[in-house]
Amino acid sequence: MGKRRRGRDRVVTCVNCGRSVPRSKAMSYMKRTRYSTDLRNEENVSYVGGVEVYYCISCAKHYGIGEKKKKMAQRRREREYRV
Ligand SMILES: [Zn+2]
Repeated sequence: MGKRRRGRDRVVTCVNCGRSVPRSKAMSYMKRTRYSTDLRNEENVSYVGGVEVYYCISCAKHYGIGEKKKKMAQRRREREYRV
């Protein structure tokens, strides 16, 4: 009790299971979101954006988030090699 955290070990919440994990141990993931009013006229407003969400390690493993990132990095490397 009593000792204040100095903010360097920020705690984030896993969006899947709601567990609180230190940011260094959490997997960040850009979640693409799209909002739309679904009106088929000029008033239709759509918005596409990204929200950064965090997963705890077990959830990240379960969803293969880390592997996704690895694959993306590999693809990028391959592209760079070809060019
Ligand atoms: Zn989780």
